[in-house]
Amino acid sequence: MNPRAVVCHKEWTLQPDREPDAAPITYAMQCGVCDESSPTCTDFAEPQGWVFEHGSRNPSHHTYREIITRPWRAWWRP
Ligand SMILES: [Zn+2]
Repeated sequence: MNPRAVVCHKEWTLQPDREPDAAPITYAMQCGVCDESSPTCTDFAEPQGWVFEHGSRNPSHHTYREIITRPWRAWWRP
């Protein structure tokens, strides 16, 4: 008995989810030295404020990562 594969060609579309019910874009900052992270917020200014607080408590921590979570959606055309 020969196994057979059913191959279906569909055209996928992928884009950032901007629908009204999409999850919000969120931002966080993470210290590149100790990996401590700010709270995750929908306003990018708050994590940036956390960097200044973290830096004042840890004067030798000078590198950070911005972590942006953006919802995407993918679908195929019938
Ligand atoms: Zn740190």
